[in-house]
Amino acid sequence: MPVQPVFVATWRFGVAAARVGWKRLSQGATALDAIESAGNLTEEDPEVNSVGYGGLPNAAGEVELDAAIMNGVGHCAGAVGGLQRTRKPISVARRVFEQTPHTMLVGENARKFALRQGFPEANLLTSQSQERYIEWRKTQLGADVAHFDLGPTNSQPPQPLFTPDNHDTIGLCALDANGDLAVGCTTSGMSWKVPGRVGDSPIIGSGLYVDNEIGGAAGTGHGDEMMKACVSFRTVMNMERGMTPTEACAEALRYLIRKRPPEAHDHYGAALIALRKDGMVGGAATYSGFRHPDRLWQWAEATSADPVLHEGCYVTPGRILEQLG
Ligand code: ASP
Repeated sequence: MPVQPVFVATWRFGVAAARVGWKRLSQGATALDAIESAGNLTEEDPEVNSVGYGGLPNAAGEVELDAAIMNGVGHCAGAVGGLQRTRKPISVARRVFEQTPHTMLVGENARKFALRQGFPEANLLTSQSQERYIEWRKTQLGADVAHFDLGPTNSQPPQPLFTPDNHDTIGLCALDANGDLAVGCTTSGMSWKVPGRVGDSPIIGSGLYVDNEIGGAAGTGHGDEMMKACVSFRTVMNMERGMTPTEACAEALRYLIRKRPPEAHDHYGAALIALRKDGMVGGAATYSGFRHPDRLWQWAEATSADPVLHEGCYVTPGRILEQLG
């Protein structure tokens, strides 16, 4: 019996991705193909300044992309970290597992691999992202917190780089008509990051995870925090223990909060989406990062051509502020 396809994506800009992902699924595409198409859509949108082309650069002015894709069928995964001058990084990530015996390629050699696979060298900066970099750079003179090469010796301790408007990831989960699952993540990471920094998004188990018998999960938020708790893996394991997707996301975030000292909590936001094998979906976010009025936690769900935008389900240490969805 064919299964009703479902597609889930992080953030308001995930609505367009969910629409494309669901359309592909409704035409009979596999979950893996739908994830790649939806990821590419966001990666190619210059208006989304935290993913792919148009993403904000690192402290040296270079855009460095992180992406991963994982297929429930065969439990396969591919990832790229710190990929420069290449468009459609989620497609490069897919080539990693399809064309090499490996799971993750990083930096300059990931770029060379992409070139060999037919991804042409590209400028990832738009005039808007370049202008934002120049503005940011002006604020850094004499107190460069991000990188040693850019200015005089750093005289100040490192400041948290995570601000409401300098990061985001498109996290994606799909269930296809065969009942198979796949997940994906693609991002330019935190803007103004130290060159070479790789976030949670391409780390299997951290930014994303799928088990074809249970469900999938993907994350967005402060990757330097989230990768310390393997939150996507934990979310899927929570679903295996019988939790709903929303409960599973919330518990994984509570675990993260519990493990980190309270003074760290003000410096990050973390959010997760999850999709269970039976088609049930959910999401949750930490309270501190995503209650900013301009920056509410939102995620898109598509079970038809018109995705629905969900909002909220915030977790604080020990409890959930809003009704479980
Ligand atoms: N998780 C991404 C990173 O830390 C950023 C985000 O999703 O907001 O690179």
